[in-house]
Amino acid sequence: MELHKNLINGQWVDGEAGKNINPSNTDEVVGLYARGTAEDATSAIAAAKEAAHGWARSGILQRQAILRTAADEIFARREELGRLLAREEGKTLPEAIGETVRAGQIFDFFAGEAVRLTGEVVQSIRPGVGVEMTREPVGVVGIITPWNFPIAIPAWKMAPALCYGNCVVIKPADLVPGSTWAIVDILHRAGLPAGVLNLVMGRGSVVGQAMLDSPDINAFSFTGSQSTGQKVAAASVKLGRKFQLEMGGKNPMVVLDDANLDTAVECAINGAFFSTGQRCTASSRLIVTKGIHDRFVSAMVARMGELNVGDACDTATHIGPVVDASQMGQDEDYIAIGTSEGAVLAAGGERVDNTAPGFFLSPALFTEANNQMRISREEIFGPVASVIRVKDYDEALAVANDTEFGLSAGICTNSLKYATDFKRNAEAGMVMVNLPTAGVDFHVPFGGTKGSSYGSREQGRYAAEFFTTVKTAYTHPG
Ligand code: NAD
Repeated sequence: MELHKNLINGQWVDGEAGKNINPSNTDEVVGLYARGTAEDATSAIAAAKEAAHGWARSGILQRQAILRTAADEIFARREELGRLLAREEGKTLPEAIGETVRAGQIFDFFAGEAVRLTGEVVQSIRPGVGVEMTREPVGVVGIITPWNFPIAIPAWKMAPALCYGNCVVIKPADLVPGSTWAIVDILHRAGLPAGVLNLVMGRGSVVGQAMLDSPDINAFSFTGSQSTGQKVAAASVKLGRKFQLEMGGKNPMVVLDDANLDTAVECAINGAFFSTGQRCTASSRLIVTKGIHDRFVSAMVARMGELNVGDACDTATHIGPVVDASQMGQDEDYIAIGTSEGAVLAAGGERVDNTAPGFFLSPALFTEANNQMRISREEIFGPVASVIRVKDYDEALAVANDTEFGLSAGICTNSLKYATDFKRNAEAGMVMVNLPTAGVDFHVPFGGTKGSSYGSREQGRYAAEFFTTVKTAYTHPG
């Protein structure tokens, strides 16, 4: 099997071969990917630093053309790249193709943004003086990504970084290097100069740590767990660099008595279980008022019975496998914890046999949960959701906000009054009304509040906040 190498200073560089394993069939090796060393990270950062001045001054049409070429190739290869993603991460083929298309849309969007960046001109308080505010690249950007969106998250960080004239060193999650490798290869062939984009795959504790410790990375964009995020923060504060963190969630979805039951059930099924529940925006707490509670639970259990768990690439599958043995162990531990805490496992939560060896778990629904239980407070990151019964909207809002996280919050209701109040008072970066808590647009800001996020928003035009720095220039005619 051919080794997929790291890209450092425009050259493909060998490394120890790591196996990318298919969670739908652990006998299947999706590909061999080089595991970089700390020295590889150092070389990549040096190459990016060397290239930074030239790329910062490159023409915006050149950047636009490269990003558009990448978008076109991603769109054209959506089936193939989607299949690679489904095989390495385990989300279903339609979800994986959808995520691939999303990556294409993001490159397409930032191709446009490359020629749309603006500044401001204002009058000075000193007569005769002009003031210009312009946005400049921040320099070398370090990007570290998680395993659950192997193509979309690298895309939504790399595209704005390159668009605004930064050089990049990216380290994808060790579990799923294939999708990032594919887009780096596309961008490299699209004509990026040597050193502008560097890929170092490998372990967080080795490659990631070497990146965190480098004073030559000017800004860090990180998505992953809270514990790793804290390391990114500590290292960045020490070195006085800019950083942006997107971390976990414990997202509430409120269902009020007046909700359309079918809408609420579809929002909950999608938000809690699609992508095997492995989304930072997953609805893991279903907060349901007492008048609709029993009907909601019965309809959920019935709907869950229709979901097929199986191979991600099988067209009959609705829920793919859990990503690996360690995540499977975590999911099963939390299912045991929920039961021991007194919640009732109303459906699922069992290993499912398939013809091939894989990490198949039926979606689990707890009822009779309360918001103090560990299953309601800690991020499980699997197909596990709990129903918390509340008496009315006020209690629902209080329970929804009683969490250390604040990424996404949803409500299903036909009441304008409650929808409006929830949009205003839900402590979350993103609020969904009669929509699943997961599933966002690419041209608007993404991010959370409280323990879920730190720093400026990602995506859309708001990405410029992080990937540029503002210069204020004063001019007097002399
Ligand atoms: P993780 O923190 O284990 O790993 C994330 C990345 O950090 C990986 O590339 C990993 O190799 C790297 N890393 C690990 N140790 C490191 C170190 N010492 N120094 C530098 N890098 C290091 O997270 P994960 O398990 O890959 O992803 C799951 C988590 O990501 C969940 O908590 C989920 O909520 C979160 N997530 C958040 C968002 C969001 O936008 N808020 C999106 C997707 C996933």
